[in-house]
Amino acid sequence: MEDIKTNILDLTYTDIEAYVEGIKQPKFRAQQLVNWIYKRFVFDLEQMHNLPKAFKVEIDNTACMYMPKVSHVSYSKADNSYKFLLKTNDDKLIEAILMLDKGRATVCVSCMIGCPLGCKFCATGSQVGFIRKLTVAEIVGQVLAILQYSKDNEITNKITNIVFMGMGEPLLNKEAVEKSIDIFTHPKCLALSPSKISVSTSGVGEGLADFIHKTGVRLAVSLHFTTDDLRSHYMPINKHFPIDKLIKELQKIKLKKRDYILIEYIMFRGINDTLHQARQLLGVIGNLKVKINLIPYNPTETLAEKASDEQTMNEFAQYLNNKGVFTSIRRSKGTGIDGGCGQFALKKANS
Ligand code: SAH
Ligand code: SF4
Repeated sequence: MEDIKTNILDLTYTDIEAYVEGIKQPKFRAQQLVNWIYKRFVFDLEQMHNLPKAFKVEIDNTACMYMPKVSHVSYSKADNSYKFLLKTNDDKLIEAILMLDKGRATVCVSCMIGCPLGCKFCATGSQVGFIRKLTVAEIVGQVLAILQYSKDNEITNKITNIVFMGMGEPLLNKEAVEKSIDIFTHPKCLALSPSKISVSTSGVGEGLADFIHKTGVRLAVSLHFTTDDLRSHYMPINKHFPIDKLIKELQKIKLKKRDYILIEYIMFRGINDTLHQARQLLGVIGNLKVKINLIPYNPTETLAEKASDEQTMNEFAQYLNNKGVFTSIRRSKGTGIDGGCGQFALKKANS
């Protein structure tokens, strides 16, 4: 019976209102229920003392509140971040990271277990392969579980930013990602501004512009290379959706004032880090409104390339900044605990 029950954490606020009406309860009960979940992080019906008994019995009979459970937490002092291993109902592990920095508390969420796109430099894609997509409750649940844990352990009682930069390709789990964003941003739920949410994509086809217009979130694009040859070698998706198509799709996006697309560019020593390639990069982005983020390659077991050295990265950044394109260098968060971007491997846990 369990699996046919509605998981309340899969539902947007509008869905919860419909559910409440469906079990013949007044609509305002939706808000009461949602308050417990999204404002107080209470998931146990017993503790929801302002809900009438009959309502709770009805919920208990027809619904559940399942989310992944924290199974292991490691802290990296060097970059003040916590890596969470969370366990799903079917005993798979998901990773999420909490990063604390200058008053911001950012959660990096996963949207899949593994990833089907198989980028060579990414531990998720090259070592885990693809296991399955995550549900809305499993995406939202990462943030809720981290919030609950952080509150109990006096780490933080509020999350200020969410980035979809963990395991998986958000645009290949669009429906669940969109619903999760709805829950993150709904004033009655987590009430984050869409501008505090970033979605990183490797670019998987048409529909990117629509997705951004619909959700209002910030977009980060994993470009990483300036020619189709190189990009297709490291990112097989480029064979189906090459650079010029990706750029055309990005040109369709109507950015709000002061908004920009973040271009992610992993730097590999001797492969994509010359000033000639910096110039090519300018050519590729053309007149798109972008900022560029240079990311040192985080070595994985399966790809022997090395990260560019600091001086090369600085020169590359300086070149672009001098040409008027704002460029920063990211020190990858969580590398000390093997949870930097692209290191969400989990191969042992899921095998
Ligand atoms: N699938 C999405 C989002 C998840 S990956 C995407 O590819 O954009 C988040 C970011 O980490 C991406 O920019 C990705 O290219 C980058 N990344 C993957 N492996 C990495 C590695 N080994 N070192 C540094 N960055 C990496
Ligand atoms: Fe998937 Fe992103 Fe990793 Fe590529 S970099 S395999 S798209 S998670």
